[in-house]
Amino acid sequence: MSSLPDPQLPAGPIAEAWRRSREALPLISPLRKRNLTLLVVGTGLAGASAAATLAEQGYRVRVLSFHDSPRRAHSVAAQGGINAARAQAVDGDSVSRLFADTLRGGDFRAREAGCQRLAEISSAIIDQCVAQGVPFAREYGGTLATRSFGGALVSRTFYARGQTGQQLLYGAYQALMRQVAAGRVELLCRREVLELITVDGVARGVVCRDLLSGALEVHTAQAVLLATGGYSNVYFLSTNALKSNASAIWQAHRQGALFANPCFTQIHPTCIPSGDAYQCKLTLMSESLRNDGRIWLPASAGDERAPAAIPEDERDYFLERLYPAYGNMAPRDVASRRARELCNAGHGVGPGGRSVYLDLRDAIAREGRQVIEARYGNLLEMYERISGDDPTDTPMRIYPAPHYTMGGLWVDYPLMSSIPGLFVLGEANFSEHGANRLGASALMQGLADGYFIAPATVTAWLSGHPTPTIADDAPACREALERARSRIGALFQGGGTLPVDAFHRQL
Ligand SMILES: Cc1cc2nc3c(=O)[nH]c(=O)nc-3n(C[C@H](O)[C@H](O)[C@H](O)COP(=O)(O)OP(=O)(O)OC[C@H]3O[C@@H](n4cnc5c(N)ncnc54)[C@H](O)[C@@H]3O)c2cc1C
Repeated sequence: MSSLPDPQLPAGPIAEAWRRSREALPLISPLRKRNLTLLVVGTGLAGASAAATLAEQGYRVRVLSFHDSPRRAHSVAAQGGINAARAQAVDGDSVSRLFADTLRGGDFRAREAGCQRLAEISSAIIDQCVAQGVPFAREYGGTLATRSFGGALVSRTFYARGQTGQQLLYGAYQALMRQVAAGRVELLCRREVLELITVDGVARGVVCRDLLSGALEVHTAQAVLLATGGYSNVYFLSTNALKSNASAIWQAHRQGALFANPCFTQIHPTCIPSGDAYQCKLTLMSESLRNDGRIWLPASAGDERAPAAIPEDERDYFLERLYPAYGNMAPRDVASRRARELCNAGHGVGPGGRSVYLDLRDAIAREGRQVIEARYGNLLEMYERISGDDPTDTPMRIYPAPHYTMGGLWVDYPLMSSIPGLFVLGEANFSEHGANRLGASALMQGLADGYFIAPATVTAWLSGHPTPTIADDAPACREALERARSRIGALFQGGGTLPVDAFHRQL
């Protein structure tokens, strides 16, 4: 078995290691950057922010996405918020607290230098997004508002109602389109990457399919950046969009890119339970609801009374009982496990006993219906449309579901995979989240990778690896094209009787 490549961790104390190592990274003259082409696959938060920043630096950037618009990337679905140690609330938050929470939240299996870098960059992300016009929620006096997320005892999550991902993506999209208009980014939508092209073991391009014409295309570049999202959809029911199919990282893995921690899948505690066997996707109810919603189950197993008929002393607010410090904001994996155990023990509610209540009753009594509706507006509407119940009248029913993947393509500290020249950003890499992701830190990581880290590290790599331009019909390109053709051909010739969906459904 081959050993892992050097993770290129910075030497010396990790506090401020990123600033130190970034200042030591070699640069490339803006005049030379004009002659270098970079391929960015994916236009979610990680891809759009990386492409916009690299183009701003002067590179020629070609962006591929299988969506019909960059704004359809799955980042648009993120609801609850984005973490930053920006210490506006008076609860004593700091970079070192965010670092410590990230490590603890990841069950101490995260790469410490990466977590430290993430915490350090987090404030700059918020500043960048505010400057772009992202409409974060604000306090009465105009300062940015924050709320708490699972696994944290401070209020450090910045948000735009229940549409944080959408608003952040519009910011990154705007920055990307500015570069398209300036002629520095060529945006190719409806292109599915099928193969990675390598020359002498170095990533030099991709083969993709034009999803409208079916034609196969070759795109070559000096380096390739994959920002193609996570793989929770290996499970049939997850909170990810059906298009989040992980095909690009899988192809890169088949070409030899190492995959790290594939079993690290986050099970999110607050999803709307599945309704029937025909359902193909689950809807998330943001964790932010746990700021005000109390999670409970009937104390006696098999209690089938309506929630309103169950008196207070016959309810088990199990997270508050078991984790008094965190209460309902216990980390996601912990909350999911307890819910599942109690449902298995016969306390679950709803069809098949596969739900727990998330109850806003006390918050409404304390703060008023209007305040709660303003805080969670679109989430409450979404729940009512799907379930038919008004969650301000009757408790929501929620259940754990696959949601986020901490595993992904292995990357070193500069975000390069085990294939030189192939960088991996956002949820697609194995990232900094250890065995469990702290809520609201995926958006932070995607934007840290795209706006701040990759633009510095890709440049450093290119400065030491001057790669000549290769022709689209070079032998490596023709071989990759042939691999794609024969794989598609084999699929068409499959003589089975079951659709692909039938196998996926079993997962
Ligand atoms: C419902 C939901 C709510 C969430 N809420 C939060 C939250 O509140 N806070 C938080 O921090 N995180 C949240 N997350 C997690 C977070 O949204 C994601 O981890 C993050 O947005 C992923 O961004 P990304 O840029 O890495 O990938 P994505 O946004 O998934 O983008 C992937 C891109 O790659 C392209 N692509 C993929 N494969 C190919 C291919 N083969 N060929 C061409 N293009 C390809 C797609 O077209 C797309 O443009 C949530 C996730 C979900 C599912």
